[in-house]
Amino acid sequence: MKISDVRATTVTVPLEAPLRHGNGCHWGRFVRTVVEVETDTGLVGLGEMGGGGESSEAVFRGLKSYLVGRDPRRLEELRFLIANPTASLYNNRTQILAAIEFACLDIVGQAWGVPISEILGGRLRDAVPFATYLFFRYPRPQDGAGEVRTPEQLVEYARREKGEFGFTTHKLKGGVFPPAYELECYRALAAAFPRDQLRFDPNCLWSVEEGLRFARGIEDLNNDYLEDPVFGLNGMRWLRQKIRLPLATNTVVVNFEQLAANVLHPAVDVILLDTTFWGGIRPCVKAASLCEAFQLGISVHSSGELGIQLATMLHLGAVLPNLTFAADAHYHHLTDDIIEGGKLRYQDGSLRVPTEPGLGVKLNRQKLAEYRELYRRLGPYPYDQDPLRPGWTPTIPNTRWADPHDARVTKIPV
Ligand SMILES: [Mg+2]
Repeated sequence: MKISDVRATTVTVPLEAPLRHGNGCHWGRFVRTVVEVETDTGLVGLGEMGGGGESSEAVFRGLKSYLVGRDPRRLEELRFLIANPTASLYNNRTQILAAIEFACLDIVGQAWGVPISEILGGRLRDAVPFATYLFFRYPRPQDGAGEVRTPEQLVEYARREKGEFGFTTHKLKGGVFPPAYELECYRALAAAFPRDQLRFDPNCLWSVEEGLRFARGIEDLNNDYLEDPVFGLNGMRWLRQKIRLPLATNTVVVNFEQLAANVLHPAVDVILLDTTFWGGIRPCVKAASLCEAFQLGISVHSSGELGIQLATMLHLGAVLPNLTFAADAHYHHLTDDIIEGGKLRYQDGSLRVPTEPGLGVKLNRQKLAEYRELYRRLGPYPYDQDPLRPGWTPTIPNTRWADPHDARVTKIPV
């Protein structure tokens, strides 16, 4: 079996409202590049990649000459072909490798007639639990509704999400407003859901002293962990020695070198495994095994996904014995998907692991065309910019917080 073609299509799928985060904003939509790898046996495997609001089509066009004629089952060889760690100094292709790995695993699963989870060791669970993943939101430009800015709005929003999807873990994405204000918001959530689990993620933007203040301010709550309060292994290590709750990261341990450093000199307790950041599903399974050996916690991270990448997260979540935390997904913030059957549906806060061969999801060609058109109409957006603060950029540690009293509506095109 040989790869005969590689195609990439950029799509834009709307979000319910613009999602604010410490580094900027998701401007009311996700831009994703859908990858199709075809074989000479007629199989088509699916991959997906982000790109900070921009298209990655050109990258995959450029890789076609690398891939055509290759055997999609040679996954380890693929790693060195696309992301050899020394060659990648000039051209880091880790996330590109991930999209191709998803597609090749999808092909292998279809060829063997088994879901990817069976290639990875077999399902330990049939469904993966997820967290709410709450964001501060700008109002929808269309109608001015959907804002999440105040503690009251946040609690009401969380109550709606919990009611609709059944979540019992709530992650709040912070790093937008001054830390004392976000602490108030987080504590309001804890008071509203005293039996649920909580986690908070300010995208590494605090000083170590600010991290210490916040951590001490939440020690009495049901925290899974505090995620990336400060930047760098040394910053995290400094903080970890002074607080009494676990620290998690999807930022400073995203490869095996960093994982080794964290084992030798512990700075982080819980490693959030992202199928994109780590270069595929298989590296995440390998990393999870190392975490098991060294008794580090793990969870499944979300870097913004449509149904294809979500399927990779579900197969990963299905096979990890040491997955004790709910996974993260941006998925429920989307209004639609590009896969057959429409959006996957949560039940009791969990998503069923696909059991069909390969990834277990197929492209809906009509939706793909519809959202390709939407990308062509709206174009890219700068993920690391705030639409209402032109010229702004956060520093690390950050002091340039948004104003919690600012209730303006953006004029983002929709
Ligand atoms: Mg994070």
